[in-house]
Amino acid sequence: MQPLYSNETGFIASIRKQNATNFCQIRHLPSGFKIDLPQLAVSLRLDGQGRWISFRNESGFYRRCLNGSVVLAHQETFLSTKAYEELLRNIHEVVHIIIRDERLDDQQRKTFQQCLEHDTAFYRQQSELYRSVYPEDVPILPPDRYRDLVVQPLIGCPNRACTFCAFYKDKPFRVLTEQQWQMHLSGIERLAGALPGDRDGVFIGSANAMALSQRRLVACLDSIEQKLGLLKRGIAAFSDPDYSVQRSQTQWQTLSEKGLVQLVVGLETGWGELRGKLGKAADLSKVYRAVKDYQSAGISVGLTVLAGVGEVENAEEHRAETCRWIEALNLGRSDKVYVSPLSENGHSSEFALREAERFQDDLSEHSEAKVIPYQMQRFHYYC
Ligand code: SF4
Repeated sequence: MQPLYSNETGFIASIRKQNATNFCQIRHLPSGFKIDLPQLAVSLRLDGQGRWISFRNESGFYRRCLNGSVVLAHQETFLSTKAYEELLRNIHEVVHIIIRDERLDDQQRKTFQQCLEHDTAFYRQQSELYRSVYPEDVPILPPDRYRDLVVQPLIGCPNRACTFCAFYKDKPFRVLTEQQWQMHLSGIERLAGALPGDRDGVFIGSANAMALSQRRLVACLDSIEQKLGLLKRGIAAFSDPDYSVQRSQTQWQTLSEKGLVQLVVGLETGWGELRGKLGKAADLSKVYRAVKDYQSAGISVGLTVLAGVGEVENAEEHRAETCRWIEALNLGRSDKVYVSPLSENGHSSEFALREAERFQDDLSEHSEAKVIPYQMQRFHYYC
């Protein structure tokens, strides 16, 4: 018999699919298992409770989102019951192949058996739990925080005027009452127990957590720690300095000490004139002062930059002004600049994609910060 286990490299098994000679690889992950059938170009990720996380076959790469939708080729869609049943049939087929092997250990067998028991009704219940917990869907997360647990002490965006953003246009900005917030956190606690265990950070949604008063924000950070514990990657949030509460340096320091590690600001451009046309403040002084405050308090800075906005003939000025403005901030290696190509209905033009590449090159020459490509339609609130 061939050796099947290698504990150093994970569990590698060769399993015949009836008469076919398809080899199967099973790897333990911190949050469950990854199953590969390379000959069939199939891969499947399950969490420790047998729920599918992602699935790849010849028709594409599917990922499950917490809200019950499925992402295929970066497009988030809610599958019809029939389409979901078809997807689950394919997933179960893979598990049927591997569960026959008598050399699986007890944990693997239990997880795979659970997977076979999870039907569309089960997944519908999972998304209903999500909907009961979140007052508002989670439309966007930074690329390095999309595995965070999202909490929403406030919903919507206090600005809602940006020409390129449709996330919150028809959603009123609102702060949850203390009672609603406590209920939300209790729901998150229940939901967290039902999530894969590799979520090691918290993200405070929605568009601008810094619009909370200092008293409310400190209370939020305290209750996050009480209910969810101190997570390894700390707490991050979006911030819009033009619609935020004024804070003293001592108050920023307090937030840092209470676990706030990163704030992401929608800069979009360092060229005031263009920024004004995009629906944000043309005067960048508040953003500048806010970033300096974060830096002094030891809070990492994230800036989003939007490539491909404005007139084509002004693209160079947009890039040059933005690089100059960011350079003046003296960002460090723990800071990030996220470069997004302008996207309309989930698609970016050739011009926007090309500009994003140019931005990445130019910014890398002007700043120590990590420059990260960010196609926001790719980062959903995945399971
Ligand atoms: S501030 Fe941000 S979330 Fe609000 S409308 Fe503008 S881009 Fe959208």
